Amino acid sequence: MDENNKMDDIARLKEAILKEYPRLHKNDSFKFRCHSGVPCFNECCGDVNIFLTPYDIMRLKNNLGITSQEFLAKYTISPFDKNLKYPVLLLKMNDDVRKSCPFVGDKGCGVYPDRPWACRMYPLGLATSRESSQTIDSEFFFLLQEATCKGFCEEHEQTIEQWLADQGIEEYNMAGEDFKDITLHPRLQNVKGGLSLQQVEMFHTACYNLDKFRRFIFESSFLDKFEVAPDTLEKLKNDDEALLKFGYKWVRFSLFGEQTLKVKDDVFRAKRLELEKKLAAKEKRETN
Ligand code: SF4
Ligand code: SF4
Repeated sequence: MDENNKMDDIARLKEAILKEYPRLHKNDSFKFRCHSGVPCFNECCGDVNIFLTPYDIMRLKNNLGITSQEFLAKYTISPFDKNLKYPVLLLKMNDDVRKSCPFVGDKGCGVYPDRPWACRMYPLGLATSRESSQTIDSEFFFLLQEATCKGFCEEHEQTIEQWLADQGIEEYNMAGEDFKDITLHPRLQNVKGGLSLQQVEMFHTACYNLDKFRRFIFESSFLDKFEVAPDTLEKLKNDDEALLKFGYKWVRFSLFGEQTLKVKDDVFRAKRLELEKKLAAKEKRETN
């Protein structure tokens, strides 16, 4: 299946979820248990569309001990869809009959402590909807109850809240908040004609390619232009989580024009002078 079909499938599923799936909330319970004794063990780890968040990618590449560049090249695909407002990444399945996940093995998930958010959530999904009378999106959970999944035949019952706690979802949600704010930002949602190639590249580097973003900070003229506190700078050298948060600030600064980073005074003055000169030259041209 090519990447465009994948996006069409995802859009159809989204529509069905909003229209047909029962809406669940944190206190609702469901019967389900997944363990190595179920007859379908590992069957769900193939031919699936798993969107990767920046935090997922950071955790996975560190689990595998490879660079973000290597991870992106080997394990991700970037579907093209004219309706997408920003670059999204999917986990690339193997090119075998089952289209299996590259991380699944006989004993289950090979990256289990750092498995992506979507894998932690399964069989739960999270959707947002906005009714015509509402101005704020409301969130609800739904169950992806596939016939092949025998976990639903188990007697173990839990609330959605318990499931989320068992799967360590809160940590992922907290780390994902800043990214969610960016993706829902009105400036991004309402951008006419989509982001420019340069903006796409900048977004991709800051959010997904942390090693490249680190080189951008330390090996370009970035630090000549921006003030960064010494303790922050020290963290950015080795702490990927701090680097990712800093990346989000950079995206907000460069895409939305927010004052999330401080430009050095001399750079600011030089820029202002340059702008004033340009304006003066323009005025002169117009009066001649
Ligand atoms: S990352 Fe792990 S849990 Fe997720 S699909 Fe792959 S093997 Fe399965
Ligand atoms: S199909 Fe369901 S029960 Fe079977 S391994 Fe996957 S999640 Fe577990």
